[in-house]
Amino acid sequence: MIAEVIAIGDELTTGQRLDTNSQWLSQRLGELGFVVRYHSTAADDLASCSEVFSQAFTRAQVIVATGGLGPTADDLTREAIAAATGRPLEHNAQVEQQIRDLFERRGRTMPDRNTAQAMFPRGSCPIPNPHGTAPGIALRLSHAGATRHLFALPGVPAEMFEMWAGTLSAELTSLEGAGQTVCHYRIKCFGVGESQLEAMIPELTRRNREPAVGITVHQGTITLRITARGSSRAVCQQAMQATIDEAQRRLGPLVFGQEDDELQDVVAGMLADEQQTLATVEWGTAGLLARWFAGVEAARPFYSTGLVVHSAEAAAGLLGLADVGRQPTSEAFAASAAQAVRERSAADLALAVGAFCAADSALQPGRCYVAIASSDGVTTQQVALGAHPAILSPLTAKRALNLLRLRLLGDEAIA
Ligand code: ATP
Repeated sequence: MIAEVIAIGDELTTGQRLDTNSQWLSQRLGELGFVVRYHSTAADDLASCSEVFSQAFTRAQVIVATGGLGPTADDLTREAIAAATGRPLEHNAQVEQQIRDLFERRGRTMPDRNTAQAMFPRGSCPIPNPHGTAPGIALRLSHAGATRHLFALPGVPAEMFEMWAGTLSAELTSLEGAGQTVCHYRIKCFGVGESQLEAMIPELTRRNREPAVGITVHQGTITLRITARGSSRAVCQQAMQATIDEAQRRLGPLVFGQEDDELQDVVAGMLADEQQTLATVEWGTAGLLARWFAGVEAARPFYSTGLVVHSAEAAAGLLGLADVGRQPTSEAFAASAAQAVRERSAADLALAVGAFCAADSALQPGRCYVAIASSDGVTTQQVALGAHPAILSPLTAKRALNLLRLRLLGDEAIA
């Protein structure tokens, strides 16, 4: 079944507020198997709002709207639905009494304006809102001979969540022809570009394949999102397993984790497995390694030191590297920094990253050096950084983390 989400409010169309309600509603609808094909956003303006409802009736079987159900003059969802469906608004005495009772329980008298919230398009039903004054609206209508299911919810997220759980979830599940169960599974990869990775699994990412495999990239981390539809979660999971296995087999060590895993989570797990402690020194990465590890609970016993400096000279001064301080962009400098921070922190492993240079030309991308020190000595690698300046810091930190991950995996990629 095709679904559409409509968000209403000037604060959304002017860009003052991010429309997180539509994101949330889309996720819930998707979980119930509905295919959300459209998002519409309209300002607090009657003509615009009724236009988006009218348009939604032409192309979606299920329409879920959020916002504009309050008591003020700019809350126009009721009027817009009435205009788009040609149904007059009718007073619901029972709902008005419920709103009055709610005000009374809060020790207040209901302002006259709130009677507007007891007005409903003819033929619709109120959706209970246990903790707010604005009940939702449920309306089943016929458009060009086809049935449409419309639900309008308030914009206040907490009220919307509660009303979804209390009413919509069950109502939508019971619709005849409602969607199947939809399951997703994410495989996280790092180490090559998006198109290079796709070229390694062309049959898996083919359009209209079942289960579907989509690729997204964020600051160098590539996510393969596998989606299966079926009669139950177990059926979906079974359908996805062969695809998951095949992707992992083809991509090998490019795969670092799944679902919400980040590189630092996986490295922290490997340090725990090996009972190895880690220290880091970084410059030019906005302190991301230290920040990321500080956010991983499991890393605490294994991450002893995170030194963040904003110049190689500062690193040289703190670590006593006077002899190499004059060549802060050299490989030797990164190696010395890794060894020095390892010695000073008494950690088993040390990771140094930094001194990335700006691109000299289109043919000579920026680069940085990564060094890993252990009881076996120190290994270094020059890493080329061809990326937008806005993502150089996270990309550099991830490249360093990934080299450490490969090293812990026993991969000889760093030499
Ligand atoms: P009420 O007026 O009874 O609070 P309402 O249905 O009129 O309910 P709105 O006035 O549209 O809701 O929104 C109330 C608040 O809810 C907004 O100020 C905003 O904080 C939040 N909100 C509304 N729409 C969204 C949205 N699409 N995404 C995220 N937050 C939203």
